[in-house]
Amino acid sequence: MKSGKLIVLTGPSGVGKGTLVRSLLNRHPELDLSVSVTTRKPREGEVEGQHYYFVSRSRFEEMVEAGELAEWAEFAGNFYGTPYFALQQRTREGKWVLLEIELEGARQIRDKFPEALRLFILPPSWEELERRLRSRGQDSESAIARRLLRAQEEIEAAREFDFQVINDDLEVALKGLESVLFVSGGK
Ligand code: 5GP
Repeated sequence: MKSGKLIVLTGPSGVGKGTLVRSLLNRHPELDLSVSVTTRKPREGEVEGQHYYFVSRSRFEEMVEAGELAEWAEFAGNFYGTPYFALQQRTREGKWVLLEIELEGARQIRDKFPEALRLFILPPSWEELERRLRSRGQDSESAIARRLLRAQEEIEAAREFDFQVINDDLEVALKGLESVLFVSGGK
């Protein structure tokens, strides 16, 4: 039986992590996405339990107090966290669980689960990142400014990760991720 594995995917807001994750999940049924809890309001088209579990600030605080989150962080004015429950259950089932999370959370996962494979997605350039973030049209100008500030900090930490993949051409980036996950065997 295959054993479960944790895979952390981090990268600045707007770098295209969501698209990469969706493509990976479509191509590889052995991968499972960890659904996070967040205090952020749902964006148009986001589905409860699929993209996130959308919770109130007080519910989030309760989960932190009760030790229900494997990691959590504040990001651009909202809270995000990974519930322990599904992580443990799925890795026990032998699943490879993908965590799409920001830098602080990735550091907490590194400390708690040093065996987790940690990947960082880089934009081809700073200008392109800014363009992508704006062209989503999903965030206010102040939210974009907060996300750009955070993006700078995250990119500076890219070398903390086991592998870095540049998302210029989607197909090339996917192949890069697949070769880390399935060919090189990770770490
Ligand atoms: P967004 O609001 O764009 O969906 O996500 C903002 C940031 O929060 C992204 O960088 C995303 O990877 C990160 N994020 C999503 N879920 C979690 C989580 O459970 N924990 C942490 N630490 N970050 C998360």
